[in-house]
Amino acid sequence: MSTYKFFEQVNKNFDKAAPYTRFEKGLLDQIKIANQVYEITFPIRRDDGSIDVIKGWRVEHSHHKLPTKGGIRYSRIVNEDETKALAALMTYKCALVDVPFGGAKGGIAVDKRKYSDKEMERITRRYTYELIKKNFIGPAVDVPAPDYGTGSREMGWIVDTYRQFSNDLNAEGCVTGKPIQQGGVRGRTEATGMGVFFGIREACSKADDMKALGLETGVDGKTFIVQGLGNVGYHASKYMTEAGASLVGVAEQEGSIYKKDGIDLESLMAFRNETGSIMDFEGAINLPDKSTVLTEPADILIPAALENQINEGNAKDVKVKILAEAANGPTSSEAHDILKEKGVLIIPDAYLNAGGVVVSYFEWLKNLQHVRFGRIEKRFDENALRNVLDAVENLSSIKFSDIERLNLTQGAGEFELVKSGLEETMVTAYNEILGARSEYDVDLRTASFIVAINKVGTIYEQMGIFP
Ligand code: NAD
Repeated sequence: MSTYKFFEQVNKNFDKAAPYTRFEKGLLDQIKIANQVYEITFPIRRDDGSIDVIKGWRVEHSHHKLPTKGGIRYSRIVNEDETKALAALMTYKCALVDVPFGGAKGGIAVDKRKYSDKEMERITRRYTYELIKKNFIGPAVDVPAPDYGTGSREMGWIVDTYRQFSNDLNAEGCVTGKPIQQGGVRGRTEATGMGVFFGIREACSKADDMKALGLETGVDGKTFIVQGLGNVGYHASKYMTEAGASLVGVAEQEGSIYKKDGIDLESLMAFRNETGSIMDFEGAINLPDKSTVLTEPADILIPAALENQINEGNAKDVKVKILAEAANGPTSSEAHDILKEKGVLIIPDAYLNAGGVVVSYFEWLKNLQHVRFGRIEKRFDENALRNVLDAVENLSSIKFSDIERLNLTQGAGEFELVKSGLEETMVTAYNEILGARSEYDVDLRTASFIVAINKVGTIYEQMGIFP
């Protein structure tokens, strides 16, 4: 196991912000600590008939709001410290973007490449069963979601397993990130990457900050590097390039590549699907190893893989002006200080990757409401808009073309509503963090912790300490 203490790193950031809040030490300790930690070991039968013992965790960091919420990670290096750290980040993240959940996280220490799909299904279903037994899952208790190494497939297995043991009308709300047919919401798959884009776009719209970095405002024309082309890294890159940014560097497990005049994202994805690797992509330079690209030149670096990627070892060589933390905890506390000294604008993880939980919140609401967003009002809105256009045509010489009519009368469907709710949330939260940054003259990370601690602490104050 690595000696890197992720939970301690999160708490270091918390401790930097705590003196700017009004709360007494005891209350701050209560906010910081993990409320419930469940370590599970269980056996699974392998395809060859042998038995493997699997280890997993679920951590509910904060019960100040229920249900608790947080993803499930599948990785060889999952451990209790990491799960606690990620659960704590969820508490602060939910507070930052005003979604009514306490923070949680789960994980299974498993190398997916060593197990068949059938074995992964057995592991996921058994883990879910263990959570059910101990009341660590349920729409009103604790609601998992995808994280590193998991996606809608695993969430589908989880909801199906949960339903075997529950006739709760709201059972679908026991997990988010599900396939649409099992109660998922349109837009959840791309939500985290889309939120990363909205956050970067908002940061790049601030003229004073961009001037201080020697950059123009806007995403258009900026260059960026991405580490990890998984769910978050791919979608963040997709929206960045659609907005006119140029992808110049990419890292994946097999290595890293750089191309000064821009890498076509979809061609690279197709190339990797075909060859199993990003290496030797046409026109790009193969770099010596997967971490080299982190110190190549660009305007923005988007780490979207795992924690502790930018650390004391490489921070001084980082050349970008903006570090956009799409992954959780990609920057060690020491690296943060080095980058801050160099004047890098760090958009912190707890804010930047909150898009996933925001849209998970929408999915949970959809499950409790039992109706798709937009279903009731879409056609009504379209008819009303058509009436307005008819009236404009009758009262003036204006005539709308069929295309104009189509564009102007489109009612919002589920995806459009989810996207607009996410955009609103990311923009509002960024400006709230900026408010704290200027009030206390701190960096964005400390400002985000101040905002989050104030929200969680206020709830604890109002609740009082029971009994
Ligand atoms: P994922 O499993 O879909 O993708 C991660 C990618 O990173 C994989 O393609 C993997 O091969 C690659 N990778 C791993 N180590 C690497 C390395 N050293 N160098 C280069 N590439 C490497 O996971 P994800 O869901 O995209 O999650 C990525 C990060 O975003 C994690 O920190 C996760 O906690 C965070 N996050 C995810 C979500 C979500 O909704 N999925 C939400 C919030 C935060």
